[in-house]
This record gives sequence, structure tokens and C-alpha cells, in this order.
Amino acid sequence: MLIRNATLSGSPHTDVRWRGGRIVECGTRLRPLPGEDDLDAHGGWLLPGLHDHHIHLRALAARAGSVPVGPPLVRDAAEFGAALRGADAELPPGRWIRGVGYHDSVAGPLDRAVLDRLVPDRPVRIQHRSGALWVLNSRGCQETRVNTCALPGVERDPHGDANGRLWRLDSWLGARVPPTSADPALISAQAAAAGVTGYTDATPGLSQDDVTALAEAVAAGTIRQRVHCMAPPGVTDPGQPRFSLGPTKILLDDTALPSLPEFVARVRAAHLATRPVAVHCVTRVQLILTIAAIDEAGVLAGDRIEHGAMVPADTMEWLRRNRIPVVTQPHFLVERAGQYAREVAAEDRCDLWRLGSFPAAGVLVAAGTDAPFGDADPWRVVRAAIEREPNSERISLAAALALFAGHPNRPGVPRTVATGAVADLTLLRVPPQEVTVPDRDLVAATIVDGTPVHLAFG
Ligand SMILES: [Zn+2]
Repeated sequence: MLIRNATLSGSPHTDVRWRGGRIVECGTRLRPLPGEDDLDAHGGWLLPGLHDHHIHLRALAARAGSVPVGPPLVRDAAEFGAALRGADAELPPGRWIRGVGYHDSVAGPLDRAVLDRLVPDRPVRIQHRSGALWVLNSRGCQETRVNTCALPGVERDPHGDANGRLWRLDSWLGARVPPTSADPALISAQAAAAGVTGYTDATPGLSQDDVTALAEAVAAGTIRQRVHCMAPPGVTDPGQPRFSLGPTKILLDDTALPSLPEFVARVRAAHLATRPVAVHCVTRVQLILTIAAIDEAGVLAGDRIEHGAMVPADTMEWLRRNRIPVVTQPHFLVERAGQYAREVAAEDRCDLWRLGSFPAAGVLVAAGTDAPFGDADPWRVVRAAIEREPNSERISLAAALALFAGHPNRPGVPRTVATGAVADLTLLRVPPQEVTVPDRDLVAATIVDGTPVHLAFG
């Protein structure tokens, strides 16, 4: 296939030809070969395909069958009650209500008694926006037999009864509740229309079965994008096209931080299995502990920091020297502006969701939407990045798009549209200088592994 009359960043060429999944020729005035498909780009900007470097695909699909119960849609106790009662009135009897995106600023900390007052007669489960906590009402506790669960994540009242709060028990809970109506094909199609050619799934603790199921969804074409999947060291690659295994995700939680030797052992175990580590760091202490652990275990190419919500200035040199990228979410500053204004001290704001200061200090940076915990539209991330305040943290449109142009296994190291590169491409309707408001409607074509998965000409 051939795209002609495109605008490429940093290249005089206008025409790009690929065969199978690889770009085989870039030039000017290329002519279609007999039988070759040919697309006139009318000057549109041809980008390396947008790769979302941090997303949770299964959780995103599950959200489709869920009730949003957090900001900005639901902001206080009255709206929270209305959302749950509305779902209660709509659903057939006995069906679970699954609420997502809850934050304590809405109606305070939840437990089963609070939920029982709103919905007593059907099972309810509410996911905290952090992804770390589920809260069940009493019916939900009964149906899942939480009281018999011996895992440490079950919070209990002074009598030893579960109070409905379940910390980091996603897989335990997932095995005990009916599956939610999820349509990964729809999510994939919407992402294709937004120019997304690849995902890195950053879900911690996936089992071999989870990974195999995801690889099969890719192979079957349910998910049309390329998927790079984080997985624990013991999981093996199912060997499907457009699917690869990524680093091992390490989740940190300030209330239960591992000891340094434990942490070092986890990093070494991943590295021994030739898996880099992707460490969830949203606080200073998490980043500093991670630096100590990686210093001790040694760096493996592909090691990365997820989120980097708080990066103190004196850690930047370490990140630069070790070429460890920060995979950030610039849109969180927009989506969670109210929360940060209340909860982050003025003197800490300069370290909060840094962006422009990373490249300025020579630190590699990439972006992921973190959907469903952030909006799944990468163009919102791009807009947040180019409108970032203060000016010193703002980046250009080209740099914002490049946040999604990293290699799946080396975020922050950009791919280019060049001979020999993988044919994952996003074509915009207009040249760079005509992009005024970056938006998903600008996407004219999305090519994954040489195959068009979205075409919107005219
Ligand atoms: Zn995440």
C-alpha cells in the first residue's frame, strides 16, 4: 500500500510505501504499482502510530457496563445517592450494580453500611478511583462470601466481620462476581478512530490465562491494535501476531511499602526473566525507594517509571543518567484539578505531574491515558500537554504527539516514519501548521501492522 502527498516530520519525503507490516520505501512522486492500494493524503500529517503506553484494557471494557460515581459527573453525597438509586431502578432484580471512579471527596469513605442505606436489596460494588479499593454492600458481601476470605486485603470491624472494604483484591473479587457486559471490539474501534495503533496494558499481576485471553482477542481481531502486555516473570508469551510481553509491573502503596531487600529481590527476579520493571510511583517516597532498589539490582533496558506524579528535582539526574523514562498522564492535572487544589501543598506543586522539565533535563518521557482511571482519548492528553501551566512545563504539539510515538518496549525513544520501520501509522487530515485544536476528528486514517483499521476520508 502507498500513501502519497503526506507531510512527514523531519523528512523531505511525501510518499510512504509498505508491504506486509514494514515500510519499504519513502520518497517523492512514488507511483502506485499494479494492484497496489493508493491513498492521497492531500498534505495531511503522517505520524508514527499513536501508542498508548499505559492503559488497562479489561478494566476499560468493564467500565462500559458500569455507573460512574465520581467527579466530574458525581460530586457530592446527593448525586452519589441519585446515581446508585437510578441504577437500582433500571436494572433487573438481582443484577449487580458496579460503580466506578469513586473518590472520598464525593461522600466520604464508604463501607457496607453506607451503601446499604442507599441500595439494600441488590449487590453493589464500588471501585475507588485509585483502583486499589472495592467497597461492597451487605448483599455483595454475602454473595461473594467475603467473611470466609482469609486474604489480608479484607478490612474488618471490631467484631471481625468484613466491613465491605476490599484492598487490592481484584482477582479474588473477579472470580466471584458475574462478568460485566464488556465489548473490547467497540473500545478498539473507538481507539482506531482516534488514531491509536497500539497499547501497553499496565495491569499488575495478570495470570497466564489473562494474558492468553488478551493475546487471543488480538489474534481474533477483536482488538485491532498492537498490544504490549505487562506480566509477572512466570508468564510466557502466547506467541500471537501483534502481541508481545512487556515489563513486570510493580505496584507500590505507601501504607504497605516493601522492605528494600524485598523490593530488590522482585526487581532481580523480573530482570532474571529478561523482563524490565515498570514501577508505579505516585509519591516521592515511592520514587526514592524505586531508585534505591534499581540502583541495587542494576538497570535493565526497558525499566520505567509509571505516572511519576511527584518527581523531586534532585531525582532528575538519576532518571537522565539511567535513561529510565517516566510514563506520565498530563491530563490528570485537568481531570483532577479540584482534588489537587485541595490536597497538594503549594510548595509541592512544582514536582506534581512534571512535563516540560523532563526533556529540559534530558529525561525520557512518554504518555499513557491510564484508562479507565483517566479518559481513554489520547487527544485530551495532547491538549493538556500543550496547554499545561506554567509555561515551563508546557510542550509543543509535536512533542506532545511524540509522547505517544515511543517504541512499545522503550517509551520515550521515538519511532519515525522511515524505511524498515513497522507500518503503524496515523494520518491526519491536515498538515502540522493547520492543526489548531488537536482533536480525534483530525484522524483520517489509522494503519496497524500495514492494515488500515480506520479510514475517514471526505
Ligand atoms: Zn494504571
